[in-house]
Amino acid sequence: MAAEIRLFPCLSDNFGYLIHDPASKATASIDAPEAAPVIKALQREGWHLTDILVTHHHADHVGGIAELKQKYDCRVVAPHDKAAAIPLVDERVKEGDTVMVGTLSARVLETPGHTLDHVSYVFDSERALFAADTLFSVGCGRVFEGTYPMMWDSLKKLRALPDDTRLYCGHEYTAANVKFALTIEPNNPALKARAAEVARLRAENKPTIPTLIGDEKRSNVFLRADDADVAAALHMKGMTAADVFGELRERKNKS
Ligand code: ZN
Ligand code: FE
Repeated sequence: MAAEIRLFPCLSDNFGYLIHDPASKATASIDAPEAAPVIKALQREGWHLTDILVTHHHADHVGGIAELKQKYDCRVVAPHDKAAAIPLVDERVKEGDTVMVGTLSARVLETPGHTLDHVSYVFDSERALFAADTLFSVGCGRVFEGTYPMMWDSLKKLRALPDDTRLYCGHEYTAANVKFALTIEPNNPALKARAAEVARLRAENKPTIPTLIGDEKRSNVFLRADDADVAAALHMKGMTAADVFGELRERKNKS
């Protein structure tokens, strides 16, 4: 039976996500930005929280864990990197591990760069990727703890997923990402199409998520750092993709 996925806003621009397994009635929250909207979404659906799958240690992804754990006695699954303080962890996961949510299985991909502990969760049977602050729609996370080559490798790992994989990311940053991407690739037709779609969705107050990996491969300049046209647009012909990626990220930081 196909999983049910719900998304809802948390804090100022985070997404909260629930993934529910109708067969077992298990429900996981991907991260826990804050407890109240997660509880509200659970009550609206009549679901009981069984698991929290944590992507990384930042406060806007773990702030709701303690309250949710106390209310539901759910399992907390988190990255193996114990250097980062994540409260009340029951189970640590690393690259290649499988996490079960009832009968649904999620594959753990280590995607460091934004933080060193960052992991993404892929539900292969659902074609669903929860990438938090590694890959955004038409953007990517800031590189706080890792290096540019490290982050580029993480993005390539996500880019390699099937084109029909739905991307569920950590923040609603798409409009700002589109604005920046157009400064690099003003004539990219896929980006222009995405820009029009995003403008319409935002005008209707709708989320721009999920998107598809296949669409991101064409419209997201950060996934195209190894494209000769992107290197040429930055006057970086012949440089490594990681260098081109680093330049893109620095320009976005200053934009
Ligand atoms: Zn973060
Ligand atoms: Fe975040």
